[in-house]
Amino acid sequence: MMKTFANFIDNRDVPAERTMGTSDPFTGKIWATVPDDPGAVDRAVGSARLAFDTGPWGTMPAKHRAKLMVKLGQLLSRDAADLAVVETRDNGKLIRETSAQTAGLADYLDYFAGFADKIQGTQIPSPTPNFLIYTERKPRGVVGVIVPWNSPLSLLVWKLGPLLAAGCTAVIKPSELTPVTALLLAKVAREAGFPPGVINVVTGGAEVGAALTAHPGLDLITFTGGGETARHIAAAAAKNLTPTVLELGGKSPQIVFEDADVEAATNGLVAGIFAAGGQTCVAGSRAYLHESVAEEVLARVSQRAETIILGDPARMETEMGPVASDAQRDRILGMIAKAISEGAKVVTGGVVDPNLGGRFLRPTVLNNVTNQTSIVREEVFGPVLACLTFSSEAEVLDMANDSDFGLAAGVWTNDIRRAHRCSRDLNVGTVWVNTYRNVSFVAPFGGMKQSGYGRDNGLEALDAFLNTKTTWIETEGQTRDPFVLG
Ligand code: NAD
Repeated sequence: MMKTFANFIDNRDVPAERTMGTSDPFTGKIWATVPDDPGAVDRAVGSARLAFDTGPWGTMPAKHRAKLMVKLGQLLSRDAADLAVVETRDNGKLIRETSAQTAGLADYLDYFAGFADKIQGTQIPSPTPNFLIYTERKPRGVVGVIVPWNSPLSLLVWKLGPLLAAGCTAVIKPSELTPVTALLLAKVAREAGFPPGVINVVTGGAEVGAALTAHPGLDLITFTGGGETARHIAAAAAKNLTPTVLELGGKSPQIVFEDADVEAATNGLVAGIFAAGGQTCVAGSRAYLHESVAEEVLARVSQRAETIILGDPARMETEMGPVASDAQRDRILGMIAKAISEGAKVVTGGVVDPNLGGRFLRPTVLNNVTNQTSIVREEVFGPVLACLTFSSEAEVLDMANDSDFGLAAGVWTNDIRRAHRCSRDLNVGTVWVNTYRNVSFVAPFGGMKQSGYGRDNGLEALDAFLNTKTTWIETEGQTRDPFVLG
């Protein structure tokens, strides 16, 4: 039966006249309707502003804020299995991954809750004895949070953890493809005891997102998504000089050296590109294989790709589900066709699965490409691995860094010195050595170059949500020359 959801503003369901459907990528059928009303944004920002300026949240002791966050985590754990089912229905991600993600949300909230009462300034030694100078770290205020569809709840909680610990309030705009779990989270937050206005959710498409980012009432925009959208957001934010955090896409290299454990590297390449059907920002979509092991690694990866179990993402044994939309499938097929016209050879895949059809793309491995082939330069956001060979460390580091993106990289080697050299020289936000696609609340995550700026996760994630205030107190009653700075 079709479900109908309302926006969540001021701890209340607020229906909208304008709505849109959200579909199940596996069946292709619309299963729920949600608001799509740019007019709702102003009310949500107003609610978040009131909660920040005059509501109980603004004066709540940090310890109490932390307790609410821990409680929210506990309730999300209670509902983890149900949330995973909704997440899988809305975005087609494997139930085995959404189950792990929803079960882990509490850890993120607990980690950041621990910081809530440890956010502190410093006392600064004065240049002259007649001043006491100190700083305080103040919450920035009302934050617009815009997240994509590929890990909707996880990426939202990555941002909510530090946001709430800092004492900010939020207006969340989830992706129009996966709007439901953010609404469910907001209701759970109300149950946990969050006061009205602290967590608001307005659903809808680009128009709603644009209304939010253009709103002069925001003190910060934190965004995860694609580069084109980020450019619109940065332009809108510039009009109000609203600061932004931008977590964007990638074209991450995985480098397999001649001394690597070939089996582990194969597993890492498969995990990097075929987990979540390649629909992850850190997809390891460029494989650089040393010429001495290239043939073996290519054969192993292709064999494994051919045995990946495609099917219903709601079944535990499925290894790869459908891509998120028909448009995305067509885009990926178009990119593969273009690569072939530029000389690429299909080692395996490159087509819609002949048995399943629809949005099921065969895991694809391409070779005979160069660093200039379009599919080696552009983010595919699908299960497509482009393989290249190299002969020296210096050559491969140049090739890996020759990219507009700088999100992540994988290095497969048993030489400890080489591992550190590669980590030093790769111009990316995260380097994984002999592993791939690990993320945690403890480790800062974000990009360089066109993969964005600012960091989610880790202690550093708090910085974006805080302002520093400096206070000078004259302690000796001295008067000073009013016309001289000092
Ligand atoms: P997207 O940019 O199309 O959409 C992201 C969000 O922006 C959605 O909520 C969308 O409604 C909203 N939006 C669209 N137009 C807008 C506008 N003009 N103003 C304001 N908001 C607008 O991205 P997507 O397709 O949902 O997600 C895939 C992208 O996200 C990929 O590029 C991927 O690499 C990136 N991503 C990055 C990270 C990271 O942490 N670096 C994580 C996951 C995904």
